[in-house]
Amino acid sequence: MCGIVAYIGTKECCGLLIEGLKLLEYRGYDSAGVAILNGQLTVHRALGRVSVLEDKIKEAGAPKGAVGIAHTRWATHGEPAERNAHPHRDDRHGIALIHNGIIENYAVVRTYLEERGHKFVSETDTEVLTMLISELYDGDLEKAVQAALREVTGAYAIAVICEKEPDTLVAARKGSPLMVGIGANEYIVASDASAIVAHTSRAVTLDDYQVCKLTHDTFRTSTIDDDDVSPKVQELELELEQIALGSYPHYMIKEIMEQPRSLRNTMRGRIDQRDGRVVLGGVGQHARKLVRAKRMILLGQGTALHAAMIGEYLLEDLAKVPAEVEYASEFRYRNPIIEEGTVAIAVSQSGETADTLAGLAEARDRGAMTLGVVNVVGSTMSRETDAGVYLRVGPEIGVASTKAFTGQVAVLTMMALFLGRRRFMSVEQSASLLAELEKLPELVERALACSDEIKSVTEKYIDKENWLFLGRGYNYPTALEGALKLKEISYIHAEGMPAAEMKHGPIALINDGMPVVFIANRGAQYEKVVSNIEEVRSRGGHVIAVATEGDEDIKRYAEDVFYIPEISEPLSPMLAVVPLQLLAYHAAVLRGHDVDKPRNLAKSVTVE
Ligand code: GLU
Repeated sequence: MCGIVAYIGTKECCGLLIEGLKLLEYRGYDSAGVAILNGQLTVHRALGRVSVLEDKIKEAGAPKGAVGIAHTRWATHGEPAERNAHPHRDDRHGIALIHNGIIENYAVVRTYLEERGHKFVSETDTEVLTMLISELYDGDLEKAVQAALREVTGAYAIAVICEKEPDTLVAARKGSPLMVGIGANEYIVASDASAIVAHTSRAVTLDDYQVCKLTHDTFRTSTIDDDDVSPKVQELELELEQIALGSYPHYMIKEIMEQPRSLRNTMRGRIDQRDGRVVLGGVGQHARKLVRAKRMILLGQGTALHAAMIGEYLLEDLAKVPAEVEYASEFRYRNPIIEEGTVAIAVSQSGETADTLAGLAEARDRGAMTLGVVNVVGSTMSRETDAGVYLRVGPEIGVASTKAFTGQVAVLTMMALFLGRRRFMSVEQSASLLAELEKLPELVERALACSDEIKSVTEKYIDKENWLFLGRGYNYPTALEGALKLKEISYIHAEGMPAAEMKHGPIALINDGMPVVFIANRGAQYEKVVSNIEEVRSRGGHVIAVATEGDEDIKRYAEDVFYIPEISEPLSPMLAVVPLQLLAYHAAVLRGHDVDKPRNLAKSVTVE
């Protein structure tokens, strides 16, 4: 959640910080703020988008200074309002602080500080941490930050500056991501690499409980107990053009359209057609253990959970290994039983999803081997798992996940084939699925070509407030994903469920003209799906079917049809989801919403 960017160096930094915030805006955007230190602090904050803050600063004149911190907020404590926006500051020492995360024991600390005369102007947990640092400040900002962090519980990535130390910036993290970019006579601290790559490709990722003290030309990394830590400098692979919008109006459509390429990248070098095998470098050395696994538990939230559900079908069907999928947030608190031979697979785009990290920790503590299916290289999840497979889909900026979803399903498909081939699957069966998998990017391209048609169908139903998405088997999770996409960006109420479940209650919802999307591609349960379509039609519902190219019969049952190319059932979700992504996108645009920054949402959910 939220974006942090901070600078210390020799350049005027206000403009640079605002540019950084724009690149991080997808992480949180209910309010934004910046503090520049130039002997004194100048703070500007604004409710709403970064552009509002930018206008405000233009009007006031950009503050001069080569040390500064900036933030886009995703509120957890206190409504989105200017008084709650970061940076928060104290007047005793002129300390300013930005924070991503939650200080869980903020209430007791606030009472303690109030008793000691501190006055609070916001409802945030962040202001409490600012005042605690001020209370403990004794001429050394680094020491005060370390001391304060020893007293708080929860999650944080912070950056702090102080008028009394004009050439110092202190950053720290626990639970929320934070990187320090190393330039020539300058450092850029940010929540992720996208705000750093324009300045330098060298960076250090802070670990939990680490603190970094920076001046314009030195840095020191320590723990909150002040033990020295030797920093691991890495080369960032992200390139600027990967995070540019190009000619697309929104990141979401750019990322939907990018899927043929992103899927090619996900599969590149991982398919060995000659032996009908999948080569997964990240898990290769654990192959023997994985082959003997007795149970797989897939953990995720949101879209990643839907990908994990497809993973469950794939692992059971292709690798014949018992699998189950759970919301990581529920798994974590329900005292799960982990037996010998259990493998927990965490699925997440960012690799920072707090619920999934917590679920993963629970599984690990109880003895499971852990795997990550993650996009962001070097993320917490990729570091905290025994092994894993990266999605390689490139940065996903649109808040509604699209290319990460197909990437996750592609990786899980390869994992299932990797295991299947080592367990029960014949070379022929594996080779034939792999041949289809290699063609998938081309087929996705064909499915994408229907975008305009999908737009005109969406237009017909744009005033409808309730939608159903139904599918069976492999495409039951796809139906859930279609409904989630529609609700998260167009704010239309949508439910996804197994097609057969409808008649056990939800059928009561169907009234004249209600749009019902069926995933009705040719597969084992096609006839059953057609029966379910009939049930909806006879109650006045409008049926929109996602069907296999060449299926003319379906037009007898469905008013509108989105065709996808023919493909084996286990691979079909990666195609069937494409028209549903486009439908959600067009619906949101037609309704005039800000597609890339849907209300109340943020890209990576780093709080539980
Ligand atoms: N908990 C803090 C707040 O509500 C920080 C939220 C964030 O990560 O943006 O202000």
